Amino acid sequence: MPTLFERIMDGEIPSDQVYEDEICVVFRDVAPQAPTHVLVVPRTPIQSLADGLNAALAGHLLVVANKVAQQEGLSDGYRVVINCGADGGQSVDHLHVHVLGGRALGWPPG
Ligand code: AMP
Repeated sequence: MPTLFERIMDGEIPSDQVYEDEICVVFRDVAPQAPTHVLVVPRTPIQSLADGLNAALAGHLLVVANKVAQQEGLSDGYRVVINCGADGGQSVDHLHVHVLGGRALGWPPG
């Protein structure tokens, strides 16, 4: 079964895409938690951070997260979040990096 994010990347489910390359796709979160909230999603459907992410891919996703943050004009800063597993609040079982910005974000998270 393709993951929700594979179906988005295949164009079966519409998305507001802001970036893509051969390794990952970035689109806006459907339920944004900040003025800018995008998801950096690897094309390979790794289930979570705990499932075989390699250093090269991890690095690429973070480099793209910063690239998109700059593209989105988040010059005052932003937050990168990876939810992992049930206790981490992960709801889509396809690894993704949240990039949130455009307002001052609170800490700690709930
Ligand atoms: P997580 O809870 O860390 O697994 O994050 C999953 C994210 O996917 C949530 O922030 C959802 O709002 C987002 N999401 C769910 N469905 C869609 C969709 N069709 N398009 C864009 N984002 C989505």
